[in-house]
Amino acid sequence: MTHQTTCCYCGVGCGIVVKQEPNGRLTVEGDKQHPSNKGMLCSKGMNLHYTVMDQSDRLLYPQMRFNRNMPMQRVSWDTALERTAAVFKTFIKKYGPDSVAFYVSGQCLTEEYYLVNKLIKGFIGSNNIDTNSRLCMSSAVVGYKLSLGEDSVPVCYDDIEEADLFLVEGANPAWCHPILWRRIEAHKAANPNVKIICVDPRRTDTARSSDLHLPLRPGTDIVLNNAIGRLLIEKNYIDNEFITNHADGFLAYREQVMLRSVEEAAEICGVSVEAIQTAADWIGRSKGFLSLWTMGLNQSVVGVNKNLSLINLHLITGRIGKPGNGPFSLTGQPNAMGGRETGGLANILPAHREVTNAVHRAEVEAFWNSPVKIAAKPGLTATEMFDALANDQLKAIWIINTNPLVSMPDANAAEKALKNARFVVVQDVSNRADTVQFADVVLPAAAWLEKEGTMTNAERRIAYLPKVLDAPGEALPDAEIIWRFAQKMGFEASFSYANSSDIYDEYVQLTAGTNVDVTGVSYDLLKEKQTVQWPYPARSKEQGTGETDTKRLFTDNQFYTPNGRAQIHAVPDENTSEPTDSDFPLVLTTGRIRDQWHTMTKTGRVAKLNQHIPQPFLQIHPDDANERGIQDGQLVEVRGRRGEVRVKAQLTDDVRPGLCFLPMHWGKLLNSNLNRANNLTSSLVDPRSKEPDFKFSAVEVVPYRKP
Ligand code: SF4
Repeated sequence: MTHQTTCCYCGVGCGIVVKQEPNGRLTVEGDKQHPSNKGMLCSKGMNLHYTVMDQSDRLLYPQMRFNRNMPMQRVSWDTALERTAAVFKTFIKKYGPDSVAFYVSGQCLTEEYYLVNKLIKGFIGSNNIDTNSRLCMSSAVVGYKLSLGEDSVPVCYDDIEEADLFLVEGANPAWCHPILWRRIEAHKAANPNVKIICVDPRRTDTARSSDLHLPLRPGTDIVLNNAIGRLLIEKNYIDNEFITNHADGFLAYREQVMLRSVEEAAEICGVSVEAIQTAADWIGRSKGFLSLWTMGLNQSVVGVNKNLSLINLHLITGRIGKPGNGPFSLTGQPNAMGGRETGGLANILPAHREVTNAVHRAEVEAFWNSPVKIAAKPGLTATEMFDALANDQLKAIWIINTNPLVSMPDANAAEKALKNARFVVVQDVSNRADTVQFADVVLPAAAWLEKEGTMTNAERRIAYLPKVLDAPGEALPDAEIIWRFAQKMGFEASFSYANSSDIYDEYVQLTAGTNVDVTGVSYDLLKEKQTVQWPYPARSKEQGTGETDTKRLFTDNQFYTPNGRAQIHAVPDENTSEPTDSDFPLVLTTGRIRDQWHTMTKTGRVAKLNQHIPQPFLQIHPDDANERGIQDGQLVEVRGRRGEVRVKAQLTDDVRPGLCFLPMHWGKLLNSNLNRANNLTSSLVDPRSKEPDFKFSAVEVVPYRKP
């Protein structure tokens, strides 16, 4: 038997063909028909089947305990969900609906996101749902909203083959979005005029393959982008027609970028004037200008401004809505975009509606026939949830398919919050998720291939994922766990679903007439076409049959802002990350390595993937290492204001002097949390996106000496 499905790792959303032999053995290969990957798979995708073939660490049965000193006991689904419902009801009655929260994941399917969101916002009466996508995408979301009017990626992957200039800023697609990178490399190989600029304080594989690498000082992206903007204006590379007819804010922007000379900007960024000039010339002369970014811009205390400063370069040059042109935030997780579509964040409702908008709330309440009013105040965001657990404002948290003990900034504080929490439910696939140890109730979830549903990748492409395998033990699809729980809470009538298709069909109706309209999409359509790109509105009888999916947005220069014009923002260029000082003089940045994914709960089980880089390490510049008496391979202690990490040093000039790099994947090993990069990271967040500042923490590094 063969099945077409989608990779559940990154937001590239590659199509996979799974073959199931009669003896149950699985093989995977890239789907040649899939428009995103055209048959290619990266190392993680090629080994994805091993994550479901190895069941050794799977959670198989619901478990619970009445206090944390007791061992977990196997219980029935009814017992686990009835106890959870009883605890939730008690807290809600005593402390109000905001005393409970759901913390979900960009790896949840669209139907799962929709259901949890409906339950807490429309039936419990709190907006306390947030997702680990808050930690990776929320600055891009706000950047898009402020500049284009809505959280809308304007481009598609086919724009890669139309572009002749790629500006890759704060991203390492060679390792983190490998299939997109292969498309870029193939395009460049076939078209020698294609140029790639990489902006990254580290010399990554992406930087190595680029024509121009700007190894800027951490936190200076806005200074650089504004300087490029200034040069584009001075050299008359701007599109006056577009600015006049389709954009607001240019004069204030021009005033802002003229405040700093290019020489001054170069000095602040630590790159040459010539390099900035070359970047501006290449952008200005290009026919297709595609900018790609991820965490280097998003995970910052000024992440929204970083996003705006980059999007501005497209708006002043009119490079948007045309083939090969546009700003393209690369999604980290497979369904971060689907989660946003369904409103699975603390501040939004389905189909990009806002919780602060009374009309939007009324529309959704009426559709859901909600027994409560949807709260007008945004709920707690990811980091706020853990702060609220720590100070007992939040009494209960339900964590679904994410491992905050390792992934949250200031992980020691997150660990303390979970330890002190009154009630923690963890719904996950395997006990490799370190967070399981703090659960009062553990709910076993079905994994990839064991449930059906949909996901949306980074180019707005919706894919159907079929159920291929039965889940082991008593594990259930996440959506079923939620609808069963909602029924235990007394909401039977509104949560009586027979399958995921029912949920999807309900969600689709809520999108009618919005910019995320997918009323033309159904499981039947997706099974026939495999994937479609939103918006995908239903066609009327008069319109007849035919394609309605949308490759590119804003081709008519009509934006989603109230006046239909794009908004150019004058952004100040300061960075407000925690300061370095004589105790903590180095800047730490964290990130991913090629063959691991998030906190290794999936990739860590695959022997082949562990061979690439088997241990955590600290990259430090040889000058900084020599100053501290550190040898290559030596065990070092990385100290910060919130904790420490012990790893081996890797001396390399791939990082700038003054900068070190730690991978973010490792968690508690051998009962020690000293591999966990987030012991060191700051819980400062961007004030608008609430995304943490993972890329800039003040640290010191010393040789480790046994006490
Ligand atoms: Fe999976 Fe991303 Fe690799 Fe594609 S690029 S195979 S989606 S991990």
